[in-house]
Amino acid sequence: MPTNTDTNTVETHQFQAEVNKVLDIVINSLYTNREIFVRELISNAADALERFRHESLTHKEIFDDHLSLEITIDMDEKAHTLTISDVGIGMTHDEVITNIGSIAHSGAQHFLAQLADKAKNDVNLIGQFGVGFYSAFMTAKNVRVLTRGFRLDDIGWEWSSDGKSGYTIQPAEGLRRGTKIILELKDDAHDFANPDNVKRIIKQYSNFVPFPIMVKGEKVNTVQAIWTRNKNEIKEEEYTEFYKFVANAFDDPVYRLHFSADAPLSINALLFVPKENFERFGFGKMESSVDLHCRKVLIAKHPEGLLPEWMRFLRGVIDSEDLPLNISRETLQDNSIVKKLNQVISNKMLKFLDEEAKSDPNKYLEFWNTFGAFLKEGVINDFARRAEVAKLLRFESSKTEKGKVTSLNEYIERMQEGQKAIYYFNGPSREIIESGPYLEAFRSNDIEVLYTHEPIDDFVMSHLHEYEGKKLLSADQADLELPKLKKEKEEEEKEAEPITKKQVETITGLLKKVLGDKVKDVVESHRLVGSPAIIVNPDNTMSSAMKRVMQATNKDFKSDYSQLTLEINPKHPLIQKLVLLQERNENFAKTIAEQLYDNALIAADLLLEPRSMVDRMYKILEKASEA
Ligand code: ADP
Repeated sequence: MPTNTDTNTVETHQFQAEVNKVLDIVINSLYTNREIFVRELISNAADALERFRHESLTHKEIFDDHLSLEITIDMDEKAHTLTISDVGIGMTHDEVITNIGSIAHSGAQHFLAQLADKAKNDVNLIGQFGVGFYSAFMTAKNVRVLTRGFRLDDIGWEWSSDGKSGYTIQPAEGLRRGTKIILELKDDAHDFANPDNVKRIIKQYSNFVPFPIMVKGEKVNTVQAIWTRNKNEIKEEEYTEFYKFVANAFDDPVYRLHFSADAPLSINALLFVPKENFERFGFGKMESSVDLHCRKVLIAKHPEGLLPEWMRFLRGVIDSEDLPLNISRETLQDNSIVKKLNQVISNKMLKFLDEEAKSDPNKYLEFWNTFGAFLKEGVINDFARRAEVAKLLRFESSKTEKGKVTSLNEYIERMQEGQKAIYYFNGPSREIIESGPYLEAFRSNDIEVLYTHEPIDDFVMSHLHEYEGKKLLSADQADLELPKLKKEKEEEEKEAEPITKKQVETITGLLKKVLGDKVKDVVESHRLVGSPAIIVNPDNTMSSAMKRVMQATNKDFKSDYSQLTLEINPKHPLIQKLVLLQERNENFAKTIAEQLYDNALIAADLLLEPRSMVDRMYKILEKASEA
């Protein structure tokens, strides 16, 4: 209630009870990160300009129509004042009282209770309840608001308060359109009259405010909020310039996704894939680099949880009008709108990449070679989107040319009739994979095998487990069920055996005796063509490649080779000769058997200590030289 104490039209008012509480918190409890008050006041100024722009579309006659829409910051280092002016919509007498003398919230008490608890730790919360203006009192012992509305018949008003004992309001002569806020800085806040300090704060928090912010005649914010503009009106160079700014980069982006949506959420997002992946060069983990804005005002730089962690290579801006303007950083991740943004935008990004991969596979391959590791991480960690991310995986395969890649979808299209699983095999290079024994069965059955070259790949495949209803299996697993293999096995059994069943038993018996508990079993192989023996993995959950990685990275991991199976190929001359040798010279046959096992381990890249076989090799070479 106004209590007129001055006949010269100075009205003195008490603050609404809620405002008093807010001010009490602001003045007495908040000590850290005070500089955000600059952002709050600039964002109010930008809002006022935006609203003015809107009004000016429908109003014919406007006061001070010639003024260009900008925000001006002045400071007086001697007088310790900071002034923030806009030429926006301004306020009438009644608006001043309702807008900055009271809090318009329903349920304000409830909000205040929360604010009182949390605000002690988090000054960002001050704006969450639409009370950003009062943050001025963190640094000011007195605040004056000089304001004049945009209509011709409006007059100017001056509001003034120390934030404690209510406020005064009186007419003010000679004002321009808009609002000027003059802060008389507290003794411990004189910094905020320092132009360099203020410029730094503006650059940090308000750089994308879509109106020029002038400090001492110099425009401080450099980049426009191009993400809210119409795509068709934005030039390539503008995008690139913005990318360079937002990503702090010097290169050109590889991909750009600019999209807007109104429902179910208002979104303006502009995201870039940079050219380089610095994680590859050992620069440590990249930090997420997408900023969150609300109506062009920065809410948080690179907030966690805005996008899935594996998308941290993206750069850019996400803007949503649905966010509360001053939502706190700490509570961002729990905010339901942020969660929805995360969902909508990451799905959009996945779709975008899939389309890019289809429309320009070569360009996508470049992207894949640089950022593939992030997508693999996505398959491992992003459970909800696993299948969508998997769509984007690319591997060389037995059916691609060297250096060319294929997708899981393309693999499925080429699958043989009756083939149930997708097969992959790990090796450091195409040549090594192809020269080993593991591909033989697949080759003779014309079944494609994906080549996984990176150590992490088998973990990716194992986490993915299946794709489009097809199991993903490592080619070194024991019970291969290749469609043609079955047929061949039956035919083979009809054919005259190269060595008799009994002889096979003798030789597997010899091997079992020699190898003892080094292996789980020694059996006749139905998959080998040109190799005498192969180590296979009865343990489907962990391929040999995974065992290797575990061994290399975890000292305590002891791979249990005694769980491996050795398969022998009775058609191979070495095995056939071994049968005869065993009758002639059992000792030497044992030596050969041991070497056979070690060779199979080498082919599986599982032999840890090759030096132990050197002596044995000499013995074998000596014998061979006798012949
Ligand atoms: P919020 O901006 O979240 O509503 P604030 O406490 O920051 O909360 O501001 C309260 C109200 O004061 C604003 O909604 C607006 O109507 C008015 N206001 C603040 N600053 C300005 C300004 N520079 N020009 C015009 N109106 C303003």
